[in-house]
Amino acid sequence: MNGLMMEYHLTLDRILEHANHISPHKRITTLQPDGTLHRYTYADLYRRVKQLAKALVALGVQPGDRVGTFAWNNYQHLELYYAIPGAGAVCHTLNIRLFPEQLSYIVNHAADKVVFVEGSLLPLYERVADQITSVQHYILFNTPSDTQTRLPNVLFYEDLIESADEDFAWRSTDEQMAAGLCYTSGTTGEPKGALYSHRSMYLHALGAGQANALGVRETDVVLPVVPQFHAMAWGLPYACAASGADIVMPGLHLKPEPLAQLIEAERVTIAAGVPTIWTGLYHELKNNPRDISCIRALVVGGSAMPRALTKAYESELGVNVLHAWGMTEMSPLGTVCNLSSQHAGLSDEQKWDIKAKQGYPICGVEMRIVDELGQELPWDGRQMGELQVRGPWIIRQYFKRDISAESFTPDGWFRTGDVVTMSPDGYMQIMDRTKDLVKSGGEWISTVELENAIMAHPQVLEAAVIAIPDAKWQERPLAAVVLTPDAQALTSADITTFLEDKVARWWIPETMIFVDEIPKTSVGKFDKKVLRSRYAEGQLG
Ligand code: ADP
Repeated sequence: MNGLMMEYHLTLDRILEHANHISPHKRITTLQPDGTLHRYTYADLYRRVKQLAKALVALGVQPGDRVGTFAWNNYQHLELYYAIPGAGAVCHTLNIRLFPEQLSYIVNHAADKVVFVEGSLLPLYERVADQITSVQHYILFNTPSDTQTRLPNVLFYEDLIESADEDFAWRSTDEQMAAGLCYTSGTTGEPKGALYSHRSMYLHALGAGQANALGVRETDVVLPVVPQFHAMAWGLPYACAASGADIVMPGLHLKPEPLAQLIEAERVTIAAGVPTIWTGLYHELKNNPRDISCIRALVVGGSAMPRALTKAYESELGVNVLHAWGMTEMSPLGTVCNLSSQHAGLSDEQKWDIKAKQGYPICGVEMRIVDELGQELPWDGRQMGELQVRGPWIIRQYFKRDISAESFTPDGWFRTGDVVTMSPDGYMQIMDRTKDLVKSGGEWISTVELENAIMAHPQVLEAAVIAIPDAKWQERPLAAVVLTPDAQALTSADITTFLEDKVARWWIPETMIFVDEIPKTSVGKFDKKVLRSRYAEGQLG
């Protein structure tokens, strides 16, 4: 129709152009492998991205080609986040913690043409090199230029950048072009690819940055501890550029001590990561106190943030916790749990009850819950149903797979596989993943809620609950419990007593096993698949 808005493509290069015009002097800081800080600006980023994109085109990268990255969070990885899509190709972030057979499967499935490998990760990648069929060039960085490797056709990153000038016209000419590719980490099955378009990533960056979402501002200093290979670091790098926020990248330094130091020294205001990272940081700070009250939003997602940990951060360290939920298939952000005006009069304890929830959908994400027959359920805060979602940054199909009824409904909603309740005011609470629920005597037990209750015990560091077969009840919960280093001789009877006024009596596990650590997935979630197979092999209890 005449007179409507001009056609304007929502492509990622527009975000970088914006940052270069509006915030050229804002800073990007990286903690390098040798422990020194690398600092530069959005203007520097912009120049090097243009060179890199031009060099990629000269190397033969065509529109739509997949280009892999195998790297920690750092400025080079950030450059790749823009240069690869800017060259018209697809930035495929490879999870460095996958098993070798999963990694080679993913590279071959995506048919990556070029792969960028960070020096410290070279030995990890070399293990799969013989299995890879598609890659024509490897590009190494953060490694000396005389590095010996088994990889074929190797180039060095800085040489590649120097080979091209900045005079480059973006090849991302259409917002429907693919720009990013992430595979799920395979917590509950084989890794599956989620392919993002320029348009979906652009809208996600604005959506995630909204004031009622993560609320990224120009005055923020943002530390994505969440890896860039875990759902695009939750979109933060793009949301930062859109807002002109400073970025701090931790590189390979993900242990609590360097993180605490980085947060304090760089005056980080928003830090994002999975609960296990923040559990570790909290215990580090108890032993070696530092002032991290500069953080105004500790963003936590990927798995449920234990209520007790939120309370500890807020009441002891003065750090506001922002619980969030999402999925690789959702780019990933779906909900955040900021308190709303109706919560103003609540007590602190009541506020922490709310903050244990995953929160309300951000604008751009639609949600509904359904029962086992697919009937929509009311939002009454009690009835549990499967959560289904749709929106502009939610996939409608997995990469190179048919649309399956297991993942998509006939009317176009994505089935998350999460079982949740929705409160009348739109706050979602995850009860479980469908595959993790315990079905005891025809009723469901939420392992997430049970874990939360156990982890509220001051001498418990972590607890994971799985279903085990039971002759009478069909299934019963088993809790694997890790005690804090300074815990006294805590017994399962003590935990049972502790749980008695917190969960229904029939929820309390008869079997509690004390372990040294809970196995974790490649993105730091409790690995219940491993726990279940250990139980089946008789190694637990
Ligand atoms: P994978 O599917 O391989 O685990 P994702 O990181 O995409 O990789 O996982 C998304 C899932 O993680 C969600 O469906 C949900 O089950 C879980 N999840 C994410 N955030 C939270 C949260 N805040 N609380 C509880 N579960 C969460």
